[in-house]
Amino acid sequence: MRVALISDVHGNLSALEAVLSALEPFDAVWQLGDVVGYGPEPVAVIRRLQSAAAAGVRGNHDAAAIGEISTDWFNDAARTAVEWTAGQLTPAASEWLGANPQTKVEGDFTLAHGSPRDPLWEYLFSASLARANLGAFATPYCLVGHTHVPVAFREVDGGMEAIVPRDGTILELDGRRVIVNPGGVGQPRDGDPRASGALLDTGAMTVTWRRVPYQIAATQQAMRTAGLPQRLIDRLEQGF
Ligand code: ZN
Repeated sequence: MRVALISDVHGNLSALEAVLSALEPFDAVWQLGDVVGYGPEPVAVIRRLQSAAAAGVRGNHDAAAIGEISTDWFNDAARTAVEWTAGQLTPAASEWLGANPQTKVEGDFTLAHGSPRDPLWEYLFSASLARANLGAFATPYCLVGHTHVPVAFREVDGGMEAIVPRDGTILELDGRRVIVNPGGVGQPRDGDPRASGALLDTGAMTVTWRRVPYQIAATQQAMRTAGLPQRLIDRLEQGF
């Protein structure tokens, strides 16, 4: 089975379409949370994921947009965007977001937004944090998002190594435990403004990362029209 792995779409439809096109053909879509927040097209993104029958988990922005957690934990720009997003959501869109669990197991893979031990909030930025999470999932492999930075943490000699992928990097899943982050679709933060995603092939047992250009200026214009914060508009072209 070929699975499109996406995370942190953040209401950016153009970026989502670009990544899905680049990952075709695939049999399934697994999304790792933060479908909404920041971007200008939250409902259209949810409809697109519904039409792709995407399975996945709930992120902190998703939970805040449906009123499940307080926005007190967000910085000003993120809170403004979440509150705007909440006002856009239809009842059906809110229901879809709320139906996604915080963690989910699909075969050999555990899905979580931040980390398996703290799905809504922990950022897996380091090999040591990844290692501290190995006891929190029972499958060989774990898939996360939240940092908007593509990476894999792989068990090696009793520790964990960090693998930083580029466009086209292929990781073989060889039985050693691995935590994979496909990178952020809708708001990349590793200095490369191109949308990020990955293709999981459960037959070949490989993960292949892709970086994909999209219509950044059009998304920025839609954000301006929506009155979203300038800082969020600027960071799309900075990729940070
Ligand atoms: Zn996010």
